[in-house]
Amino acid sequence: MKRKPLYIYSDDLLGYHFHPRHPFNQKRLKITKDLLETLGYLSPDQIIAPRPATENELSLIHHHKYIQVIKTLSDLNELTDQEFFAEQFGIGTEDTPHFPNMHQATSLIVGGTLLGAELIMQGKAEQVLNMSGGLHHAFQGKAAGFCIYNDCSVAISYLQKKYKLKVLYIDTDAHHGDGVQWAFYDDPNVFTLSIHETGRYLFPGTGHFTERGDGRGFGYSLNIPLDAYTQDESWLECFEEALAEVIDFFKPDFILSQHGCDAHFYDPMTHLASSMHIYAEIPRLIKEASKKYSQGRWLAVGGGGYDIWRVVPRAWSMIWMVMNDIPIVQQEIPLSWKRKWGHKATKTLPSFLLDLEEDYPFIPRQKEIEIQNTITKNKALSFLRHQKHRA
Ligand SMILES: [Zn+2]
Repeated sequence: MKRKPLYIYSDDLLGYHFHPRHPFNQKRLKITKDLLETLGYLSPDQIIAPRPATENELSLIHHHKYIQVIKTLSDLNELTDQEFFAEQFGIGTEDTPHFPNMHQATSLIVGGTLLGAELIMQGKAEQVLNMSGGLHHAFQGKAAGFCIYNDCSVAISYLQKKYKLKVLYIDTDAHHGDGVQWAFYDDPNVFTLSIHETGRYLFPGTGHFTERGDGRGFGYSLNIPLDAYTQDESWLECFEEALAEVIDFFKPDFILSQHGCDAHFYDPMTHLASSMHIYAEIPRLIKEASKKYSQGRWLAVGGGGYDIWRVVPRAWSMIWMVMNDIPIVQQEIPLSWKRKWGHKATKTLPSFLLDLEEDYPFIPRQKEIEIQNTITKNKALSFLRHQKHRA
C-alpha cells in the first residue's frame, strides 16, 4: 500500500510571532491549512503535531552560548538596557525583534522539521511537509532575517550524523539561503542549491554565482542570482536546468526543499515578478528529482511569503497537491473559504488557484532580464559542467 504524505501542523506553531506589524506572519499556516481542508485535499489522518527540538538537537548546528542567550531572552517580557548584548546575537533588531518564549516557539518549528526527517527515515511516509519551517537565514551563533534557529540546517545535520546521508538542499525563496549554505560550505556531503533575487538590492546581499563552496566542499554550493523583475519563463529555465544538472552530479540520498514564495509579483518584500505558475512547477520538478536518486525521500518546508492572503495559501497548497498526486489545473477557490477569511483579509482574496493573465504586471525590460539570467545561470553551472567533462 502506498504510504500517504504527512503534514506537520498544530496551532501552537503560530506562537512564532514577533509583533502584530511584523511582516513574518504565521497566520498564513492556518489560512493555508484551511484552504486545503476546504478543497478536501487534507485528511485528519495525515496531520501530525510537531514536538519541540531538544537542546542537544539544536546543538547539532547552534553554538551552546547562543542557545543559552536565546533561552535567557525568551524568559523576558521585553528587552531592557540590561540586555544590550542581545544585538550581538542578532536579537532585538528591526528584522528579528525579541518576543517572549522565542526559544520554545522556534524549538517547536525545528522539532517539526526534525520529525519530518524522522518520519521519512522510519518509512512512515515518503514525503512530509512542514510549512512552519524554512528559517534559512539563522546562523550557528546569530539570528538574522526573521530566523532564530535554523530548522533546515539542524535537520540536515541530523540526517548526516544519524544516517550518513548525502542531502540536497534546494532553496527557491526569493532571498539567498545563506544560513544553510554557510553551515555546510566546506562539506561535500551536503549540496546547497539556491535560486534567488540578486543580492544587489535585497537582503542578505550574498548568493553570488562565485560562491561555490570551500575546501572539500568546493563545487557543492550553487547559486543562481536572478535579476529583479524576473518572470516565470526565465525563472523556470534557470531552475529546471540547474536542478537536473545538480541531481545528476550529486545523486542525493535525501532532498530537503525550502519553499519561500516571495518571488511572486504580489510579494511586497522583493522585486521578482513570477506568478503562481512557478509554484505549481517547483514541487513537480522536485518530486521528479526525488524519484530519480533519493527513493522518493522528500521533506519540504515553508519560508518567506509576505502576501499571506493572495500568494501563500495557494502556493503552499500546491506543494501538498503535488505530494498527493492531485493534478494542478486551473480551478476556482471555494467560496466558503473566501467567505470565512474575506473579512479578515487586507487584500481581495483570489478567485482562482492559478493567476489570470490579466493580473500579470507589464515588465518593460523582459528580454534583457532573460538574457542576463541565462548568462548568470551558465556561469553558475560552468564548474559542474567542467567536472562532468573531466569524469
Ligand atoms: Zn524570502
